[in-house]
Amino acid sequence: MRMSLVSLISFAIALASCVHAHPDHSTSLDALSARDILDALSTRDIIDELSDRLERRAFVCSVCNNAFPSASALQDHVKRAHAAH
Ligand SMILES: [Zn+2]
Repeated sequence: MRMSLVSLISFAIALASCVHAHPDHSTSLDALSARDILDALSTRDIIDELSDRLERRAFVCSVCNNAFPSASALQDHVKRAHAAH
Protein backbone atom coordinates (compact mmCIF):
# COMPACT_ATOMS: atom_id res chain seq x y z
CA MET A 1 0.00 0.00 0.00
CA ARG A 2 1.38 3.30 -1.00
CA MET A 3 0.49 6.42 0.98
CA SER A 4 1.08 9.96 -0.04
CA LEU A 5 3.23 12.16 2.15
CA VAL A 6 0.27 14.46 2.81
CA SER A 7 -1.92 11.63 4.09
CA LEU A 8 0.93 10.29 6.21
CA ILE A 9 1.51 13.72 7.78
CA SER A 10 -2.19 14.24 8.42
CA PHE A 11 -2.40 10.80 10.03
CA ALA A 12 0.58 11.63 12.27
CA ILE A 13 -1.00 14.94 13.29
CA ALA A 14 -4.33 13.25 14.07
CA LEU A 15 -2.57 10.60 16.14
CA ALA A 16 -0.56 13.22 18.04
CA SER A 17 -3.66 15.31 18.80
CA CYS A 18 -5.49 12.20 20.02
CA VAL A 19 -2.65 11.33 22.39
CA HIS A 20 -2.51 14.93 23.58
CA ALA A 21 -6.28 15.06 24.14
CA HIS A 22 -6.27 11.87 26.25
CA PRO A 23 -3.23 12.03 28.50
CA ASP A 24 -2.67 9.30 31.05
CA HIS A 25 -4.05 10.90 34.22
CA SER A 26 -2.86 8.12 36.52
CA THR A 27 0.79 8.91 35.78
CA SER A 28 0.38 12.60 36.58
CA LEU A 29 -1.59 11.79 39.74
CA ASP A 30 1.08 9.33 40.86
CA ALA A 31 3.77 11.92 40.32
CA LEU A 32 1.72 14.53 42.17
CA SER A 33 1.04 12.28 45.15
CA ALA A 34 4.68 11.21 45.30
CA ARG A 35 5.70 14.87 45.34
CA ASP A 36 3.19 15.58 48.12
CA ILE A 37 4.57 12.71 50.19
CA LEU A 38 8.15 13.87 49.66
CA ASP A 39 7.19 17.44 50.58
CA ALA A 40 5.71 16.22 53.86
CA LEU A 41 8.89 14.34 54.79
CA SER A 42 11.87 16.05 56.29
CA THR A 43 15.42 15.01 55.51
CA ARG A 44 15.65 13.60 59.02
CA ASP A 45 12.57 11.43 58.40
CA ILE A 46 14.08 10.06 55.21
CA ILE A 47 17.44 9.31 56.87
CA ASP A 48 15.70 7.63 59.82
CA GLU A 49 13.64 5.44 57.48
CA LEU A 50 16.70 4.45 55.44
CA SER A 51 18.60 3.60 58.63
CA ASP A 52 15.72 1.46 59.87
CA ARG A 53 15.57 -0.38 56.55
CA LEU A 54 19.31 -1.00 56.56
CA GLU A 55 19.10 -2.39 60.08
CA ARG A 56 16.22 -4.66 59.06
CA ARG A 57 18.26 -5.92 56.13
CA ALA A 58 20.35 -7.86 58.60
CA PHE A 59 22.17 -11.12 58.02
CA VAL A 60 20.09 -13.93 59.50
CA CYS A 61 21.48 -17.21 60.76
CA SER A 62 19.86 -20.14 58.97
CA VAL A 63 20.17 -22.33 62.06
CA CYS A 64 18.76 -20.18 64.88
CA ASN A 65 17.27 -17.19 62.96
CA ASN A 66 19.24 -14.61 64.96
CA ALA A 67 20.04 -11.45 62.98
CA PHE A 68 23.49 -9.87 62.68
CA PRO A 69 24.52 -6.50 61.26
CA SER A 70 27.20 -7.86 58.92
CA ALA A 71 28.23 -10.98 57.09
CA SER A 72 31.38 -11.26 59.20
CA ALA A 73 29.37 -11.06 62.43
CA LEU A 74 27.11 -13.82 61.13
CA GLN A 75 30.11 -15.97 60.17
CA ASP A 76 31.65 -15.45 63.62
CA HIS A 77 28.35 -16.44 65.22
CA VAL A 78 28.05 -19.61 63.11
CA LYS A 79 31.61 -20.61 63.96
CA ARG A 80 31.11 -20.02 67.69
CA ALA A 81 27.53 -21.19 68.15
CA HIS A 82 26.95 -23.87 65.55
CA ALA A 83 30.33 -25.33 64.64
CA ALA A 84 30.58 -29.08 65.06
CA HIS A 85 32.71 -29.92 68.04
ZN1 LIG B 1 22.70 -19.15 64.78
